[in-house]
Amino acid sequence: MRRRVAIIGGGPTGLYAAEILSSRGFNTTLFEATRFPGHKFLAAGAGGLNLTNSEPLESFAARYNSPSLPPGVWRNWLAKHSPDDLRRWAEELGSPTMAKRNGRVYLRERKSSRLLRAWLERLASQGVTIKTRHRLTGLCPSRPFRLEFETQPVDSADAVLMACGGGSWPQTGSDARWTGLLRPLGIPIRNFEAANCGWEIDWPDGVRSLAGQPLKNVRVTAGAHSLAGELMITGYGLEGGALYALGPILRAMDQPALTIDLKPAHPVSRLVEKMESARKNWASEAAERWRLGPAARALLESRSWQGAMDVARGAKAFHLTLRGPRPLREAISSAGGVCGTALNDRLMVNGMPGLFMAGEMIDWEAPTGGYLLQGCFTSAAIAADGVEDWISTLSGS
Ligand SMILES: Cc1cc2nc3c(=O)[nH]c(=O)nc-3n(C[C@H](O)[C@H](O)[C@H](O)COP(=O)(O)OP(=O)(O)OC[C@H]3O[C@@H](n4cnc5c(N)ncnc54)[C@H](O)[C@@H]3O)c2cc1C
Repeated sequence: MRRRVAIIGGGPTGLYAAEILSSRGFNTTLFEATRFPGHKFLAAGAGGLNLTNSEPLESFAARYNSPSLPPGVWRNWLAKHSPDDLRRWAEELGSPTMAKRNGRVYLRERKSSRLLRAWLERLASQGVTIKTRHRLTGLCPSRPFRLEFETQPVDSADAVLMACGGGSWPQTGSDARWTGLLRPLGIPIRNFEAANCGWEIDWPDGVRSLAGQPLKNVRVTAGAHSLAGELMITGYGLEGGALYALGPILRAMDQPALTIDLKPAHPVSRLVEKMESARKNWASEAAERWRLGPAARALLESRSWQGAMDVARGAKAFHLTLRGPRPLREAISSAGGVCGTALNDRLMVNGMPGLFMAGEMIDWEAPTGGYLLQGCFTSAAIAADGVEDWISTLSGS
């Protein structure tokens, strides 16, 4: 008799786990709460799917912030299922990838719809049953597992792999309602928070009116952490990759604040030199002489300065107090989820043999740049291996 595996959640994590387990001969059924799988995967591809990153494995693994997982675990997982494996997988499905100069790896065709279609065809050909409109609402961790759904009849499985996603973009199905199902089972879950999200700032009108304008080639510092990148002025505050990557630091601050270096390639002395002969209108003179874009100019013009040295120092360390992050529902991803302490290194829940977790529903976070999807695919592969090994220990397998 073929062992029955239930995958809960039809995002990239669940689909990938279903692909691996069905290819290894398991009777695999995927249950998805909404009308179709891969909703967030399609949303992620809307502006070009950044599937993974080409940076070396050591520094790649360091991108994952997961305090409740054992140190070094991402390095081991990524070595078993690497960014190159993921690129090969996409290529085999007819969607080759390309690496940009900044390391980000995109699908050549940019959108993810064709890849998702080919993927679902592969799953069908491997015999995966996908049951949509099946929201798991109850789980009895006996053997076999009893699965209860919102409106559908109960089902059962020898092993269950949950891949229900995080808490951002709930319109895609990732609404984190599954936390109400797992908490009563005693599984520790850290509340979700917005990650890779915009932050709110009380802009003066002159800056707010420049919503949509970038701050290019800046260096952004929060606490002891600093990185180069780009920001975008919005009506409510700021967005941008450099800000997203500093999210964990900002969330840990009592009063979140940033310092922006608007001219990172120039020391203060060089900026002051360029101000020679200026006698007043320090911000607008500086904007002209230092060739600042409209957003950087508006920032400088929003404050008063007492001379060339003052404005140069201000441009090198423009301080901003942040009101707080944008709401979780708008964030690209979420921090929080099932605590790593509840899982073993194969992603099986401690004390609940046969129940596995993977993807964004686990308490880890990573910046944008392809690390999120890679984390989902890699953890899916690790959990799928775990399911296979665990089932092989059952009598009669
Ligand atoms: C706008 C946007 C752009 C993004 N772009 C990128 C990018 O370019 N690169 C990148 O690396 N990452 C990107 N991401 C992040 C990436 O899409 C997510 O990290 C990834 O989709 C998470 O995969 P997952 O399978 O773990 O969860 P999800 O994709 O969230 O899927 C979870 C699934 O589980 C289902 N589900 C939930 N509860 C239940 C239940 N009780 N029963 C049954 N089913 C359930 C949900 O309906 C959903 O379909 C982006 C995200 C957003 C919002």
